[in-house]
Amino acid sequence: MKSGMFADIPVDVGVVYEGERIRKGDMHAELGGPDVPHKFELLRVKPPEQVEDGKVTVVGPDFKDMPEGTKTPFAILVEVSGKDLEEEMEGVFERRLHYFTNWVEGFMHLNQRNTIWCRVSKKSVQRGLTLKHLGMVIIRLYHSECPIIEKVQVTFYTDPSQVEKLYPEALKVYEARDARARGLKDEEVDVFYGCTLCQSFAPTHVCVITPQRYANCGAISWFDGRAASKIDPKGPIYEVKIGKCLDPFKGEWEGANESVKAKSLGAVTRVQLYTAFGYPHTSCGCFEAIAFYIPEVDGLGIVHRDFKGPAVNGVPFSTMADSTAGGRQVDGFHGLSFEYMRSSKFLQADGGWRRVVWIPKEAKERVKDFIPKDVVDKIATEEDAKNIEELKAFLKARNHPIVEPSEELKKLGVKGLKGVEAEEAAAAPPAEAEEVPAGEVPVMAPTLTVGVPGAGGMEFEIILKNAKIFAERMIIRKVEKKKGKGEGQ
Ligand code: SF4
Repeated sequence: MKSGMFADIPVDVGVVYEGERIRKGDMHAELGGPDVPHKFELLRVKPPEQVEDGKVTVVGPDFKDMPEGTKTPFAILVEVSGKDLEEEMEGVFERRLHYFTNWVEGFMHLNQRNTIWCRVSKKSVQRGLTLKHLGMVIIRLYHSECPIIEKVQVTFYTDPSQVEKLYPEALKVYEARDARARGLKDEEVDVFYGCTLCQSFAPTHVCVITPQRYANCGAISWFDGRAASKIDPKGPIYEVKIGKCLDPFKGEWEGANESVKAKSLGAVTRVQLYTAFGYPHTSCGCFEAIAFYIPEVDGLGIVHRDFKGPAVNGVPFSTMADSTAGGRQVDGFHGLSFEYMRSSKFLQADGGWRRVVWIPKEAKERVKDFIPKDVVDKIATEEDAKNIEELKAFLKARNHPIVEPSEELKKLGVKGLKGVEAEEAAAAPPAEAEEVPAGEVPVMAPTLTVGVPGAGGMEFEIILKNAKIFAERMIIRKVEKKKGKGEGQ
């Protein structure tokens, strides 16, 4: 028989379930996620008389009343009170929902705010898990993990019309929080904040949150970081003394480097906050969008989590997210939040918005007011360009700054679309070269020969069996044998 604070919950609850994935075949129901238009989670600080501690309300069907395979709009509203609580702490406590819900066996929670994506497993529903239980767990965890919270009540909405009705209100709250954090500049503060909450998913990931670089998840601002570190200085959100500025343009500080190095256990030693190249900020997996390099035009594309279908480079968000996530620094793939796109420091070392060539229409709408007026109509959406050829034509027709980069962009090392085309022309095969469809040419399994340190000079062969190599075209050209010394004299 189970004992402890979750004895009456029919499934296990613990950190061990964080990171548990529920595959389609094992899922009883999906709540929120990309296939439904409305979903959100929201935590509000309320006066004590408006919160009934321990109360869980379910508006709409509970798990057992949902047919297997259900996909439903979903909202979680958490209302809290406490004499020391302030409205500016809402974002930080709201983010804890990601962790608390993930601690429930058979319940998966991804993302944040209005992009939440949850699943409950068949197994846990068969064992009797309900939304009521989930609410009870959330309330008890808020009490045990955040003692500043005195009263908590939770309401789940699975009735689509109710979720839709409340959705605009949630967006307003997010926007008000984000707007509060705008205005302060990175140069005006002597501390940043770090967050390691996502290390359970990406062990080397550390967020560095500055006034002008909102956290990747879009849920924690510099002000949220300040509030969180005040409440719990030894917690997962902590103060970072920024120390000497090493590069104000790329956004590198000695103190931030030291902090990231310590918190990533040496895996990441340098971080430059305003670039997607070199030493970019790491990405965990919770990012709201990805900036990705498009070599054919020397520009950057942006794709957000809710965008369906492939981006202009032919790759969908989910595939690019796999290349970006995991707490690594990946050159040219950069996880970011919408609010960072609204910052004047947004990828400034790469050219900022003048380097961005493609973004989905919906995402563009959300940040439009923060894109320089002379560029906004020159950035393509999926309606203007669905592939690289269409993109090139659009950029040229609109005279996007990437076509013939200004001196300012050139100084950043940007060669631009015309520069790329000039390089391609110079490298074009001579006329006698023969081009054959790649699929018709048998290619042997690639073999690598490597030496292993400490193996006494022995070499090992690595054979990549069934490796799939994709080539758009294969060019076969005659190679003139170079004359060696003494040859042909
Ligand atoms: S994305 Fe960053 S700030 Fe947001 S919860 Fe994860 S580690 Fe913290």
